Amino acid sequence: MKKGLLASICLLFTIIGFSQTTKEIVDAIEKEGIENSQLEQLAYELLDLNGPRLVGTPEMKSAHDWAISTYKKWGISAENQQWGTWKGWQRGITHVDMVSPRVASLHATQLAWNPSTGKKGVTASLITLPSFSDSLAFVKWLPNVKGKIVMVSMLQPTGRPNENWEEYATKESFEKMKTERDSLEKIWRQNISNTGYTSRSINAAFEKAGAVGIVQSRWSEGFGANKIFSAGTEKIPAVDISLEDYGMLYRLVEHGADTKIKIVAESEDLGVVPTFNTIATIPGTEFPDEYVILSAHFDSWDGGTGATDNGTGTITMLEAARILKKVYPNPKRTILIGHWGSEEQGLNGSRSFVEDHPEIVAGVQAVFNQDNGTGRVVRLSGQGFLHAYDYLGRWLEAVPETYKNEIETTFPGSPGRGGSDYASFVAAGAPAFSLSSLSWDYWNYTWHTNLDTYDKIVFDDVRNNAILTAILTYMACEDPEKTSREKAVLGINPRSGKKGEWPTPRSPQRKGGQDE
Ligand SMILES: [Zn+2]
Repeated sequence: MKKGLLASICLLFTIIGFSQTTKEIVDAIEKEGIENSQLEQLAYELLDLNGPRLVGTPEMKSAHDWAISTYKKWGISAENQQWGTWKGWQRGITHVDMVSPRVASLHATQLAWNPSTGKKGVTASLITLPSFSDSLAFVKWLPNVKGKIVMVSMLQPTGRPNENWEEYATKESFEKMKTERDSLEKIWRQNISNTGYTSRSINAAFEKAGAVGIVQSRWSEGFGANKIFSAGTEKIPAVDISLEDYGMLYRLVEHGADTKIKIVAESEDLGVVPTFNTIATIPGTEFPDEYVILSAHFDSWDGGTGATDNGTGTITMLEAARILKKVYPNPKRTILIGHWGSEEQGLNGSRSFVEDHPEIVAGVQAVFNQDNGTGRVVRLSGQGFLHAYDYLGRWLEAVPETYKNEIETTFPGSPGRGGSDYASFVAAGAPAFSLSSLSWDYWNYTWHTNLDTYDKIVFDDVRNNAILTAILTYMACEDPEKTSREKAVLGINPRSGKKGEWPTPRSPQRKGGQDE
């Protein structure tokens, strides 16, 4: 009885002492994050000066080196850890012009890893796809592409996003447009399927049949926004053209005008290059083998500069690390910052890390990942960990209202199976969470598009997130208890009708874009 009382008194003192220090540290984190924010400078250096970070490009490597020198300036040790190799490629000048029936320079971008046309480029007539009853009809028609540049995307009936129609159209004409578009899309998909190919594999068939180029327009349903991915051809140029220019070319061809374009796309094949994660560390003083991991993928697609995917997650974690190093330089647990490579091709950097460092994964206290745009964090799920409510709840308590008042929590939630790098850790049973943000029209306007650039960053929201991340990290480091990994019983999967199963770790692709 007496012993119990003494223990309670001791605990009470610990709690009081703990919360006073907690308040001081939290205040200091907030002050540093607001009064000495480095976010704008970091964004400038990473996005404008360095550029996009497509795996296998020299810009990806220079960004890794930049991260290391940035950490060095702050007194944080960091290294590039190689996990694989990738097809090395350097983007060059893309210049696409219509040369007949009149001259116009077009808004176009070469697709990733596509070979060079050389300076001379390729000039040829355009051809659109007729309708095919079946694969036999396709095979019969296929020789028509010889010497031609093939238009492989559907003609969009409108270049205005839905919100714009909603604001200005009559209800009837908006409905009419949507019905028409739905039906065009259905017919288009059926037609591609009739060929026996997918919209992805068909480019190789055109190439084999002697086409000299591929043009597509992958509209992202926002003004001026196109998604820019990879080419899927071996030798011939493949470019994405803006909706506006693509539509013009398509109508010219369909009306029988002699329509020719010239594609100059001067990229460079750099053979096979090593590929990395940048890992920074602030060593723990009390439990050095336990880790709080700040996580954000470092790579991007390269139609824009990868500002919101995932420049904003990247600078959030850099800034949180900087603040912590200044305010809380001797954390109880080790703070590890993971800037993963090749997330975009299948979480390859983080999956490699999980596979190569089982001892770190075993010591994970928590992973905080951010990767869905520039917005304030508004959702936090327990990812299926039964007791996530206890510890995340405890940590959130220390966060001032302004940084968390919009956060909706879901406990225990269900384990993430993909989407971003936290899933690599969740699959291995380590408590990993997604700091999920407000959209700011992410899916239509910036996600993998040509418009994913510095100007789309909402710095006040990113500042909010950096401060939130720093506080959660501090609390996770200080927590007297190691987090529980007990998994919740998963419900019935509505699709399969079977009891849900926990995801299992998947092996990364470690040799990207190479013939194996
Ligand atoms: Zn991303």
